[in-house]
Order: sequence, then C-alpha cells, then structure tokens
Amino acid sequence: MNSRPPMHAFDRGAKRLSKRILRYALKRVRMDPPLDHAVPAEELRRRVGHTVTLEGIGAARAMSVWENVLAPACISIDHPRYFSYVPAAPTEAAGLFDVAASAANIFGGSWQEGAGAIFAENEALRWIADLAGMAPDAGGVFVSGGTAGNLSALVAARWKWRHESSASMSSTRGVIIASRAAHSSINQAAQVMDVDVVWAQDDDRGRLSGEAVRAAWQSLSAEQQRRTFCVVATGGTTNVGIVDDLEGVGQFSAAHGLWFHVDAAYGGAALAAPSVRELFNGIERADSLIVDPHKWLFAPFDSCALLYRDPRVARAAHTQHAEYLDALRHDDDWNPSDYAHHLTRRARGLPLWFSLAVHGTVAYSESVERSLTVTREGADDIRMSSHLELVLEPELSVLVFRRRGWTTEQYYAWSDKVLTDGLAFVVPTSWRGETVLRMCLVNPATTRDDLRLVFDSLK
Ligand SMILES: *Cc1c(COP(=O)(O)O)cnc(C)c1O
Repeated sequence: MNSRPPMHAFDRGAKRLSKRILRYALKRVRMDPPLDHAVPAEELRRRVGHTVTLEGIGAARAMSVWENVLAPACISIDHPRYFSYVPAAPTEAAGLFDVAASAANIFGGSWQEGAGAIFAENEALRWIADLAGMAPDAGGVFVSGGTAGNLSALVAARWKWRHESSASMSSTRGVIIASRAAHSSINQAAQVMDVDVVWAQDDDRGRLSGEAVRAAWQSLSAEQQRRTFCVVATGGTTNVGIVDDLEGVGQFSAAHGLWFHVDAAYGGAALAAPSVRELFNGIERADSLIVDPHKWLFAPFDSCALLYRDPRVARAAHTQHAEYLDALRHDDDWNPSDYAHHLTRRARGLPLWFSLAVHGTVAYSESVERSLTVTREGADDIRMSSHLELVLEPELSVLVFRRRGWTTEQYYAWSDKVLTDGLAFVVPTSWRGETVLRMCLVNPATTRDDLRLVFDSLK
C-alpha cells in the first residue's frame, strides 16, 4: 500500500491535484491568452493573503490563487501582439514536454546520470551546428540563456589564450573586441571576468564589419594587441536585428589568431530560413556560437544552445574538480556540466529536441520564414502609411520605425495605454539618440492584421 511520507503520498487528494495541474497545463498551452500585465504587490497581497503558512493552504486554494490571481499578473509572452524585447512562442509539443521532463527530474550534468536526455539534447545541438556549418566534432551544451552562454564562451576563449601563451600571461588582463551594438551581456561578461572591452564602431545600420574590427585593432598598442584574445560578432542584433559581417570579422579573427565568438541568441534561428541564410555566411568560422531556442525556436524558457568548434577547450576551462566528483571522470563520457559555468543543470534542451523530433526541421524553417514574411509586410505597410516612417530596412524580424511628430513622452504614454487596453505590448527603444518604436516578431501566430491594429492605434 502507500508507505510514502505524507507530503509525497499519492492519495486521493494528490490524484485530484495532479489532474488539476495537468488540466491547467494543457489549457494554458492551448489557450489564446489575454495579454495581461503586471499588478502592484500590495494589490496581489490584498487578493491572495498569505500563501506560505504553517499548515499550508491546501491544493485547491493554491491552484485557484495561481490561476485566478497570480498567473494573470504575468504578461503572456506567447500573445501574438507581444512585440517587446524578444517574444517567445513555444510549440505545444515543447511546452508540454517540459512538463514531462520536469516530472522525470533528470540530472542533465553527467552522462552517468542523464545519458538518454543528453543524447537527445545533443541531437538538437547537432541540428543547430549543421545549420551553422560547424564541423562534426563541434559540440556544447544548453545553458540558461544568452547571458550565461556568452560568459561561458568567453571564459573558454580566455582559457585557450592563456594556455597557449607564456606562463606570465596567466595573470595578464585580457582584452576582447566587440561592436558598440553588441548585446549588454557581452559587457556584463567582461566585467565578471575582469577583461577590457575595445568597442569597434558599427556602421550606420548597426552592422560590424571586418574593416571596423581592423580599425579597432590598429588603434591598440602592441601591448594591448598581445592581451587581445577574442572578437565578438552578433548574428542578429537585439535592438534592430542586423547581422554583422561574419565573414569579414571571422577572417580577421582567424588571421590574427583570435577566438571568434558569434552571439546569435536572437537571430540564430534564421539560419533555418533560406530567404536570409546568406546573411550569416562566415558563421561556420565561429570558435563558439550561441542561439537561444527560447527566443525564435519555439522552446519554453530557459534555453540557450552553446556550441564550440573544439569542445575540448571548453572542457578544460570549465570542468570542476572535487573529491566527490571523481566518480564522474570517465574520459569518454560527454558531461554537459563540463562545457559551461555550471554544475547541476536541468536537461533544458529536451523541449526543443522533442518538438524537433515531432515536427521535423522543415516545419521549423517554415515557421521562422513566416515571421520574416510578416515583418516584410509590416515594413510595406509602414512605407505606405503617412503617419509612420521606417528607420531601418528590416533584415530579420525587427521593425524599427518612428511616428512622425511624436515626442518621447508621447511614445511612452501610447505604449502604456495599449498594454493596459490589452491591445499590444510594444516598448519604445532608441536609435542614434532618438526615441523610436521597435517591434520584434518571432510568433508564427502573428499576422499582418495584428501589425495593422498596432499601426492604426498610432494615428
Ligand atoms: C537576448 C540576447 C542575449 C541575452 O540572452 P538571455 O537569454 O536573455 O540571457 C544575448 N545576446 C543577444 C544578441 C540577445 O538577443
């Protein structure tokens, strides 16, 4: 019979609860969610009272508090008119498989413990590596996000530089070269690592060229050049969706023995889209590459695919050593813990793997192309309108445009209003010092009509 301790018992109450949770999960992945918005903490407190108590509030009440009060106080990122930051739109297969993977609670750090899950994750990583044209021995790991991926890649890059330099370099402060348009997490990684960043100038569209990297390099002293170990390029800038000159930057890096890191956290999904694949030429030169499946590859949070041309370098840089870990050291085992700044990890690549396995890669290409098409249609509509003006021609799926005659205050007031009205979530950004509007499209459910609703509300 049931010998489990009370909190782990599978009695009638627990069965009712599990049905309710699964019903909720199914309903949530299938619903057309209202947009929703944040609610002040005092109001939430007033509505839910205290939830963590000595005796517990019970399953029915906890679920009802979640469903009726707390969940609606979170913006629905899968809403087709969520256009801020980088949205997300997990497939049903990916979202529900995340539930299944959580139920199994697999330790995804070592082959000894999670072989089957790691095999599946590596299949998904291989798909991305193939899209990028990386060699068969490339490999890596899924980490929590682009921020963690960039940091881990740069740590590996520095390890290689120090390892290959003279011993005196082991305490020398390193230098990386990155574009002014690089994601904030690059600067953040540099601060964590205590390395210097030399900012290369992006062009008038925000694109970094090989020439600009050369100019930055030539501005350095011989001593600074000796300390430089990595060049970072972006495969789809977050603010405006521009792909750097990966061929030029990659060639420059190779010629100077510098590690070439490509941050394609947002844009990397477009490697699967034939209409824009050409923009990424040169990405196959990357020593490391990141792509966030939780952005444009229809996986739930949180997931970043981190790939290395030579995973042995990452392994040397990241493997943790401790007496109790010695049992894990079978040399041939693929231990995901060894390839990034982490030890315990959930097998967070499983939702992407499952959805890829279910739907096939063609469906992925088509879904990414759909957002690109709707973006181009939106750009056409902006061009044809009299009240709006494109700031940049979109390369990927980011629309950047201005409302003629508006002040910064007007942009922000409009943004607040359309969110509280439940119409759309669009926050302003700035481009060359001017406040403008930015809409990022990754949800295949988003249509031209969704964009028109937003454009009309700007009249
Ligand atoms: C989103 C993004 C990041 C950061 O990724 P997180 O998953 O939010 O940590 C890094 N680089 C680029 C280009 C991005 O778009």
